[in-house]
Amino acid sequence: MITRTAPSWHTEDWQFLLSDSIRTVESLWSALNLPSEGIPAALSAHREFQVRVPKPFLDKIERGNPDDPLLKQILPVAAELEAHAGFLKDPLAERTTNPASGLLHKYKSRVLLVMSGACAVNCRYCFRRYFPYSDNRMGSEELDYIAGYLQHHNEVNEVILSGGDPLVISNGRLAKLLNLLESISHISRVRIHTRLPVVIPQRIDAELLDVVSRSRLNVVMVTHSNHARELDAVFDQAMLGLRKVGVTLLNQAVLLRGINDSVASLVDLSERLFESGVLPYYLHLLDPVAGAQHFDVSESTARTLMQQLHAELPGFLIPRLVREIPQKPSKTLIDLHLSEV
Ligand SMILES: *Cc1c(COP(=O)(O)O)cnc(C)c1O
Ligand code: SF4
Repeated sequence: MITRTAPSWHTEDWQFLLSDSIRTVESLWSALNLPSEGIPAALSAHREFQVRVPKPFLDKIERGNPDDPLLKQILPVAAELEAHAGFLKDPLAERTTNPASGLLHKYKSRVLLVMSGACAVNCRYCFRRYFPYSDNRMGSEELDYIAGYLQHHNEVNEVILSGGDPLVISNGRLAKLLNLLESISHISRVRIHTRLPVVIPQRIDAELLDVVSRSRLNVVMVTHSNHARELDAVFDQAMLGLRKVGVTLLNQAVLLRGINDSVASLVDLSERLFESGVLPYYLHLLDPVAGAQHFDVSESTARTLMQQLHAELPGFLIPRLVREIPQKPSKTLIDLHLSEV
């Protein structure tokens, strides 16, 4: 039997880090030395949406600070158990735009593939808390069907890999998928939406960079970071590696009450991302999913924050504030009325 003496997160093996994450309320409470009053509600919330926190992310949480912006993203709390009007289990009505298992075709020129139901981290605000992932398995049969679908849809030039988190799949599976997409001549671009480089930056390993650099496709990676404190030197290295193989780097964030709903926090996030060569893309208003109402920031507060951001940052460091409205042909941009400022 192998015994590991060094702390687990010292390893560079991302698959080990992925499997070694915290997955129970008890282990989270003991790792962070949290007050025990919170345990009963946490157990109920965990039954609805499982706790999952990888060690490199856990390590960045400030012990003894109940307002830590990283802690709040992963901690199951009593507020999740409250019902609120308008907060639904399928807020984006995605089940109706799901032409085949694992395939979402909502917007004209691009399709989204649900590569995996799993994530490296379970974010408490996530709109996919109740997504029926077990009905969206991406096996070889599904891939054959999707390849056929794409062959017949010339208007699609971009394939978005999403999930769950698409980078939980192995480099070998990713390489096979890229090969398949490369065989369809009108596909020119692949976009990877992932939170893995933020929570386990070791995921961007030499083999992944090799797979990406061999592809004829233009590769875009959209990371998901909500707070500057999530980003560290390992993330910088990962982004540098990706830039060297020609990947375009963007970030999307969700505007979250008590986590990043201040001008200072949003400025820091944009500046920190750019230090790693990443441009802000979207700032999403929260999708109204059941159990996440306590994270909601009103549209008028969001608009005010954005107006203030415009006074602080160059235009290229300002994310687009958007909301997703079911049945619309794109994400909906929130009008900021900047001329009135
Ligand atoms: C968000 C999303 C996209 C991508 O939208 P962009 O505006 O191109 O970033 C594509 N498909 C689905 C189903 C989406 O939810
Ligand atoms: S990584 Fe993304 S998909 Fe997964 S739980 Fe977090 S927000 Fe949701």
